[in-house]
Amino acid sequence: FSFPEELGSGLPVFHPRGGVIKRQMEDYVRQRHIDEGFEYVGTPHISKEALFHTSGHLPYYAESMFAPFKVDETDYRLKAMNCPMHNLVFDSRGRSYRELPLRLFEFGTVYRYEKSGVIHGLTRARGFTQDDAHIYCTEEQMEGEIASVLSFIISLLRDYGLDDFYLELSTRDDAKPDKFIGSDEDWAKATAVLEKVATDSGLELVPDPGGAAYYGPKISVQARDAIGRTWQMSTIQYDFNQPSADRFDLEYVDADGSRQQPVMIHSAKFGSIERFLGVLVEHYAGAFPVWLSPVQV
Ligand code: ZN
Repeated sequence: FSFPEELGSGLPVFHPRGGVIKRQMEDYVRQRHIDEGFEYVGTPHISKEALFHTSGHLPYYAESMFAPFKVDETDYRLKAMNCPMHNLVFDSRGRSYRELPLRLFEFGTVYRYEKSGVIHGLTRARGFTQDDAHIYCTEEQMEGEIASVLSFIISLLRDYGLDDFYLELSTRDDAKPDKFIGSDEDWAKATAVLEKVATDSGLELVPDPGGAAYYGPKISVQARDAIGRTWQMSTIQYDFNQPSADRFDLEYVDADGSRQQPVMIHSAKFGSIERFLGVLVEHYAGAFPVWLSPVQV
C-alpha cells in the first residue's frame, strides 16, 4: 500500500500484494458473518445531509465529518458511519417480531476528518472500510446477542494470532449530560447489560468513564501485539437512541399485534480492514502466516 500525495493525506491505495492480504481478510470476515447469521447488504458512500441529523451524528459528530457539498441544490455529505443507512434497510418495509434479531453486515467505506497531525499510516486514516454490522432485536434478546458478538470477536482475533486482550467498558460522563442523548433510565439499563456480558466473559475489565458514544455505552476489545503495545480493536455499542421515535422511529409488530421499538447493537469486528491490517503488519513483524502471505514459496 501507499499514500499518494496526489490523492491527499490519509487516503491509502492498495497494490497487488496488499490486495491479496486485503481480499483474504475480506473473504474471511464475510464468511464468518454469514456463518454467524448476518445478512450481507450494501450502501452508498454519500447521502443527503439530513440523514445524519436524523441519526443525531450531526451536530454531535460534526467535527469528524467532511464539509457538506451541494448536489441539485441539496446538501450532501460523505458518509462517516453506516448505521443510518442500515436503519433505512430495516425501515424499508414493515417488520415482524419473527424477523428479529435482524443482523445486517457490510463493508462500509467511511470518510472521517482527522486533523493532519494525527493521521498515521493505516492505523489512523481519513478513508477506510469498516466490517460494520448492526443487529436489531428486542430488549430481551439484547444480552444473548451481545454475548455472541463478543465471543465472535474474540475467536476472530485468536484466528489472527492475537490472544492477549482485555475489555474496556465506556460509560456516560454524568457531569456532561449535553454530550449524550437519551434518558437516565435507558443509559443505566444499557450499561448494566454490557457490564454483565463483559463480566461473564471472564476477561479483564477496565472502566472508561465518559468514553461512551453520544447514543449509548460500549465495550471495546483492546489487544496487545507481539511487542506489548495495546491497540483498540473491535467495539460493541448498545443503542436505544437511533431506533427511537424522535430519530428513525423504527418499529416491529409484536406477537400481540402491538407496535414496538427494537434496540440496536453496533459492532465492527476488525474495526476497519485498513487499521487491522496495519496492526497485523506490526504484530507479525512483516512475516505473515501462509494463509495471508501474498508471496508463496
Ligand atoms: Zn453503527
